[in-house]
Amino acid sequence: MQTFNDSKKVIELTFLWEVARALNENISSEDLIKSIKTIFCIFFKINYLKILLYEENFDTFSDFSRNWNILSKVDDKERLINFFKVLIPQQGRGFLINDSLVKFDNKEKVLRAEISKIIKDNKAVLVLPITDKNEVIGLIELQTDEFTPDCQNLDFIMSLNIAATQISTAIINNKLNYFMQQNVEFYKAMKDIAKLIESQYELNYILPLIGESISKFAINKQISIFYKDENSKYKLLWPKKYCYDGLNNLLKKNENALTYNISNDGHFGVFPLLKEGINIGVVLIDGKNNKLDEKDIFYMEQLIRQSNITVEKAEYYAETLKQATIDALTGLNNRRQFETRLEQEINIAKRKKSHLCFMLLDIDYFKSVNDTFGHLVGDEILYNVAKIIREEIRTYDIAARYGGEEFCLLLPDTTVPKALLIANRLRERIEKSKFDISSFNLTNVKNVSITISIGISVFDPKYPDFTKIFKEADSALYKAKQEGRNRVILFSNQEL
Ligand code: GH3
Ligand code: MG
Ligand code: MG
Repeated sequence: MQTFNDSKKVIELTFLWEVARALNENISSEDLIKSIKTIFCIFFKINYLKILLYEENFDTFSDFSRNWNILSKVDDKERLINFFKVLIPQQGRGFLINDSLVKFDNKEKVLRAEISKIIKDNKAVLVLPITDKNEVIGLIELQTDEFTPDCQNLDFIMSLNIAATQISTAIINNKLNYFMQQNVEFYKAMKDIAKLIESQYELNYILPLIGESISKFAINKQISIFYKDENSKYKLLWPKKYCYDGLNNLLKKNENALTYNISNDGHFGVFPLLKEGINIGVVLIDGKNNKLDEKDIFYMEQLIRQSNITVEKAEYYAETLKQATIDALTGLNNRRQFETRLEQEINIAKRKKSHLCFMLLDIDYFKSVNDTFGHLVGDEILYNVAKIIREEIRTYDIAARYGGEEFCLLLPDTTVPKALLIANRLRERIEKSKFDISSFNLTNVKNVSITISIGISVFDPKYPDFTKIFKEADSALYKAKQEGRNRVILFSNQEL
């Protein structure tokens, strides 16, 4: 027959088994807190639970439930530091109940007598140690109103100790994972910022993208980017809106700063953007009511250094790209090269009296793609649209990226029906394509679909001027947009 003591043992073993099982799973921080709470609820209800690791450099704790942010509330800090100091010499072989130290190697009777003295109305605040190889490195604090006499025996106290050790392992793993993940995100942001230079060269365009990349990394913090206008006044470039009361003061103080500054309360960091050694703007990091810690500042320093290299190179790149013939993002001809080729082909068509068709392609609602998924996804789509264009045309057709999300195509020796066929084939293929954006790690979104509109014009030997063929295609494209997009329109004279 099962005795009263046996059934209690079963509960204790169930508790330990639940702890082991829950902590064995590779779980997120939120799930981990939930599991720990659920496990303790086998014994008693928990009013609150805190998981804190001691941070030597700051003589305070980082809080698990807030992404290991440093705790700055002073009175709470002193109380916890006192607990921590009491627990250190115990090396994980004891914990606190209502501020009194309880060691699990006590004799059963002494222990019960001791605990009954410190418990009133079954209310208890427990502070368990988080240990790493017997060294106390943090605290688990929980409060319950159900610390009944049943909980006051040696077996129970021992199970709590074992649980604390197992929970410690899970927490340490979780913290390591968190920082490893943060490192991965950091290197991704560095790479994204470095890569910007390959496809973009206008500062007004690059800086918001830098903001986007850093923001993805600096979770739980607000990044904003200010750029000096013609009157040397800081203008917000990223995000669309950002305000806080002390903003103007903070910017004023850093007007000509060449190195970063952290605000007196430690909540804000201002990092200058430099070009040729001159402050041209700043990146502001707002800890959103939390102090920035050493790591935040270290990471930001690296990211801003990379951003400054990108900024520095931007103008130089713009100059070189002007000389180039190829568009860096898509590998198609650039606008300058296209115009040269257009002139050549017009001359050939005139001389040979051959057909020549021209197309302007524009991605529909592309701004909303950028707004929804970010510019890097936008760039990926531009790259893939260019790839499809290249695959769909013949070797002697000439394709170019004419502007942001506009492409053009010149089709020598091509009649109008043939051009319409090519245009529609291209339009349909793009409509059916699912552009894979899974590598951008946007939750739930694996791919994006888009459509394009196309305007077609035909070379008229009576007007060898190339602006006419261009204007006509543009006007047909405009009509395609007006008629609902995702369509091909051939220019006809009545429309001009
Ligand atoms: P519509 O159907 O009328 O063409 O709508 P749209 O949103 O495509 O047109 P709009 O001209 O308003 O916006 C074009 C957008 O293309 C604006 C800009 O964000 C985006 N864009 C331009 N150049 C680039 C680029 O190099 N990379 C990325 N990602 N986006 C670009
Ligand atoms: Mg456009
Ligand atoms: Mg467009």
